[in-house]
Amino acid sequence: MNADEAEFFTEDELVAVLTTQPLGRLLDYKAPDGGLRIGAFVMVPLGPRTTLGVVWGPGAGDFDRAKIRRVKDVIDLPPMTRSMRQFMERMADYTLCPLETVLRLATRMPGIADGPKVRKIITAGDREPDRMTRAREQVLAVMEEHEGMNFAAGELAGLSGVSASVVKGLVAQGVLVEKTAPRDAPFLPLDPDRAGKTLSVEQKSAAKSLQDALGSKKFGVTLLKGVTGSGKTEVYLEAVADALRGGRQALVLLPEIALTVEFLSRVEARFGSRPAEWHSGITMSERRRSFRAVATGEARLVVGARSALFLPFSQLGLVIVDEEHDGSYKQEDGAIYNARDMAVLRASLVGAHVVLATATPSLESWANAKAGKYGRIDLHERYGDAVLPEMAAIDLRASKPERNKWISPALFGEINARLSDGEQSLLFLNRRGFAPITVCRSCGEQIGCDHCDARMVEHRFLARLMCHQCGESKPVPTACPSCQAEETLSALGPGVERLAEEAEALFPNARIAILSSDLADSARKLKARIDEIAGGGADIIIGTQMVAKGHNFPLLTLVGVIDADLGLQGGDMRAAEKSFQLIRQVAGRAGRADKPGLALLQTHQPDHPVIKAILSGEDEAFWEAEAGERHAAGSPPYGKMAGIILSGPDERVLYDFAGYMARKSGVLTASGAQLFGPATAPVARIRGRHRARMLIKAPKGAALQAPIRAWLAQFTPPANLRVVVDIDPQTFY
Ligand code: ADP
Ligand code: ZN
Repeated sequence: MNADEAEFFTEDELVAVLTTQPLGRLLDYKAPDGGLRIGAFVMVPLGPRTTLGVVWGPGAGDFDRAKIRRVKDVIDLPPMTRSMRQFMERMADYTLCPLETVLRLATRMPGIADGPKVRKIITAGDREPDRMTRAREQVLAVMEEHEGMNFAAGELAGLSGVSASVVKGLVAQGVLVEKTAPRDAPFLPLDPDRAGKTLSVEQKSAAKSLQDALGSKKFGVTLLKGVTGSGKTEVYLEAVADALRGGRQALVLLPEIALTVEFLSRVEARFGSRPAEWHSGITMSERRRSFRAVATGEARLVVGARSALFLPFSQLGLVIVDEEHDGSYKQEDGAIYNARDMAVLRASLVGAHVVLATATPSLESWANAKAGKYGRIDLHERYGDAVLPEMAAIDLRASKPERNKWISPALFGEINARLSDGEQSLLFLNRRGFAPITVCRSCGEQIGCDHCDARMVEHRFLARLMCHQCGESKPVPTACPSCQAEETLSALGPGVERLAEEAEALFPNARIAILSSDLADSARKLKARIDEIAGGGADIIIGTQMVAKGHNFPLLTLVGVIDADLGLQGGDMRAAEKSFQLIRQVAGRAGRADKPGLALLQTHQPDHPVIKAILSGEDEAFWEAEAGERHAAGSPPYGKMAGIILSGPDERVLYDFAGYMARKSGVLTASGAQLFGPATAPVARIRGRHRARMLIKAPKGAALQAPIRAWLAQFTPPANLRVVVDIDPQTFY
């Protein structure tokens, strides 16, 4: 018996309940008839309503006992484990996000309060019928033939070709027994001992290291760095197999839903059945089924998006964070957290092992490995005969595209050569839509969003202008909204749709496909589309960063990066790192199979250190240089950082309040932290709300969260003004 099970509250004892409501504290309730355990999921009355909660501990008893209400219902789910409760508390402490918000992440599932859906089924009893009839014989024959199958009474009658009364008669006599059984299909066992792929020597030794780390049953993190196509997935699946063998649950986090579809089939091929799935694309009933199965331990392996980290695992032994550097692990609204870091936190509380898999690690993970906090395993070779692509720059100053065109003569020649050899080319441009700017040639007006400080992006397929900040869209006007001149609006700059138009004109006989997140309406459709393209359904693929993530295109031999300078511009401290990762990942798509690949980077600055690092393939030198710069600046991971974002409808009120906060920052700066700002945010307005930012920096050894908490505790923001804390900010918009 573990400590959790020991903590039981009998009827009428006071318990403290954490609810999903934003109250800022726990509430006392009386335990119901039958009592309950710590961690129990409960429904409790709150004002006129009933709300979901979790029993967090004994009641504080500082409230008039006569007024304390009783827990209404104990939900039929295993109680939340102690380690899960600890995880939530530590996460709330770290991110400065209220504990009830974390509970919402952990229970974000409609119907959590519903018990398992059940239905009545017929099973064999131990009596003989009083007399045998033809109809009864038929029923018993069907039961025998389909032994182990669960039929409802009606189904059984139908299959046997008899009336329902025959089945009822047999039940009445005890020949058959009617029982309730779960309606949800069970998760079938995964078989870790089915033969997997035969691993190469390098893969085998990597798998062995991971298995050894897992076998220690101690918390630890391993950075699995392997070039694209080196078989990182095959390697970590061996660690998953060991977790399953050891009776522990495993979680695989993926950065994008479209990747889960492919991953599920790989798991099925390896272990013989499908794991549980968890992301925004699954149905409500799937969610309910998976949540329950994870809690009961029936589901042994979960594949999902970052929110899968909050599922109620009870025996978690292994967490894989695939493409760990990916920005989508950072949730930027509501609870602001990085799922990679929270995965490490969760694992540390249960003695689980974490594998961070990537071809291009985040500087944070690279530095942790370097400092010896994480283990590190490298896969240097691509699997099989595949070799890494050759890389070169195209100097756009020498090989100039025509005006308002983006494919240089040099790139044109290479694409043409692939077309005549029947090979695929990928043109990468990280810009959705047709053109990023729509400008009036007469007055110079650029069309912006009415609610945000952002330009509207033309999406020609949709025939609309869209705001990428708030999602608002409007038809493309025929006249300039500012000077009313007709037919003067023109598109400026490229997006993937415009690039496709250019490619169509240059290669009239080629089949051209665009892969962009806004052009797919479901993960499955997107996966089908990607499969079709990977199978040879297109000659030229034009894609945004979506194509950089893990998809395999075996026929692809040329990658053209249309604008390698794009990511180098913004002043963000992560610009170089992000550019390096993205371009390396995209380039890695070329030449996976036995055909050698070529990656060409169109750039105006072929001598830029990031471009040179990408071309030379000297990753370690790049990370060393980046680390050196961040170290000198005291930036993460060599210092701590937090962003404070204020927003509100009234600009005056916003800046007055921000200024007041800055003036009263003594408690914050006394701890050694520095406060910068307030300054107008780079995106000064979103959805009609003005935005200001402050930045807090602290030395690595200093406390960050506690001083921020003490500082913020002094203020009650005016109505409608929001103050959001972003610990370890990734973006600074
Ligand atoms: P990564 O995640 O490192 O890019 P994957 O695990 O996706 O690499 O492997 C790339 C491709 O090579 C996949 O199609 C995979 O099935 C194949 N592959 C990798 N290792 C092996 C192996 N040992 N045997 C057979 N195929 C393999
Ligand atoms: Zn907008």
